[in-house]
Amino acid sequence: MTQPAGQVWAHVGQAFTETSFDLVVIGAGRMGAALSLFLRRLAPERRLLLVEEGGLPNEDGATLLAPGVWSAVDVPPGLEARAEWDRALLASGDLGDVQFGERPLLRLAPGGAPLPPEVSPEWADPERLGVGARDDRAALFRPGGLALNAAQRAVGAGANLMLNTRVRLRAPGEILLDRLTVTNTHQIVVHETCRVQAGSTVIAAGARGPDLAEHGLGLHTPHARAYRQSVRLNLKTGGETPIVRVGSLTLRPQQEGFTLVPGIAHRDPHGYVPTGGHLTGVPTGLRRELLEALVEHMEDLPALASDALELGRSISDVAGAWVALPGGDPAAPPRWEALAPGLWLLLGGPKADALGLSTAYDLAATLAGQTERPWDA
Ligand code: ADP
Repeated sequence: MTQPAGQVWAHVGQAFTETSFDLVVIGAGRMGAALSLFLRRLAPERRLLLVEEGGLPNEDGATLLAPGVWSAVDVPPGLEARAEWDRALLASGDLGDVQFGERPLLRLAPGGAPLPPEVSPEWADPERLGVGARDDRAALFRPGGLALNAAQRAVGAGANLMLNTRVRLRAPGEILLDRLTVTNTHQIVVHETCRVQAGSTVIAAGARGPDLAEHGLGLHTPHARAYRQSVRLNLKTGGETPIVRVGSLTLRPQQEGFTLVPGIAHRDPHGYVPTGGHLTGVPTGLRRELLEALVEHMEDLPALASDALELGRSISDVAGAWVALPGGDPAAPPRWEALAPGLWLLLGGPKADALGLSTAYDLAATLAGQTERPWDA
């Protein structure tokens, strides 16, 4: 049976008179959007509200800046079958066009096999680097497109969606919805606060999820977050240009050039505010940790020492976002957990490109009372 589409409240001009939902999902990044779609498919009898503080996709979320690189090299042992399920779903078109395309990933290191012709000496020094390992089943996709499509499909399947609305939690199941609007001096203000009851609540608010549980409900979690910047490297690339990994840096080929995505070494301390660093005394928009990682690889990757790298003058010149670190561990896979009866936390984090969808599905199936998982078949 096909479901009628859900309702969408995009701005404060649309009256909101609902008082309860079976399920409320907080945050429409890729985790919350995918969860909502899977819930509509697995438990269509339950009324669902998906709430997002920004628009769709939110420009401040981690999803839009995620690398969008699926590779088996990022999958912890034991989770291979789940990651394959993620890959098959991304490739299938069932989530709409997420611009999925196979692209080999080469791990470059000193020694190793000679660099293939697709790796230009302009950006990787063949005297210093060789191919250490290669994943020919790696693929590129667009996480922002994934979040958008999944949310649209969830609405098409009957999920209700509220945008420009910030959730606060007061007690499990008691949800405050601050509907936001922009004043003519460009300030974001609360236009009205609505209250709804939720049978079950899932916090899928990315790096802000643990804070939401802690501030609203006093529930402490071991999770953390890190601020990750994505840097443009303007070079000539083509359809054959592989994804390259050197140390913890990923060079993700784009239309023209690469996006350089640093690995996350550690959590950021509580209260850390992202600020730019200095390179030979000149202020840049890159945080110091990232500059250090780049300096480390400047000889291997000569392009890093050229003006192909967009350094910016301040932090606002460089795209960056907070990424959740499940358990405080940058190497940990996405996960969900029950925080209290009827309250769940869903976290994506650095490995969500490979395992985010199956983690969202796993929680949806659990909430729907199902014990079987498609990747176990
Ligand atoms: P993930 O990869 O886990 O989906 P994102 O950071 O991309 O992570 O997505 C989290 C989303 O949750 C963001 O779009 C953010 O705007 C939204 N969000 C965060 N806090 C709240 C909140 N209190 N109320 C509503 N939405 C929120």
